Amino acid sequence: MNQDPDRACQSHADYIVDEANDYALAFVCSHVFDASKAVLLVARENNDLMCMCGEFHEDDETYHVIGAEDLIARDQTLSKIVELSNDMAAERAAIGEPWMHLSLTSDEPNSTT
Ligand SMILES: [Zn+2]
Repeated sequence: MNQDPDRACQSHADYIVDEANDYALAFVCSHVFDASKAVLLVARENNDLMCMCGEFHEDDETYHVIGAEDLIARDQTLSKIVELSNDMAAERAAIGEPWMHLSLTSDEPNSTT
């Protein structure tokens, strides 16, 4: 019997299964922290999740760390966006508006899905 050594499983998934890190912590700006503004900008960098109001912040802006769960409890539309891949960001114009995803790296946009 001649066994083909290349007869390995050919199925390959291009997506990364992110062990849905059960709602990690999120860095938020003071506006999101005190709930005076909605989260309009979400980014994940170095696996840190950042949820910002999307507006300009002074250099002395104080960032807080809260559970992403708390953010989702406040705004259900965040439940998917916190699963953002590393080096990705998403922004929207307002709550209820579609998220626009962008890459934090300067790679070309994906041509395949
Ligand atoms: Zn802010």
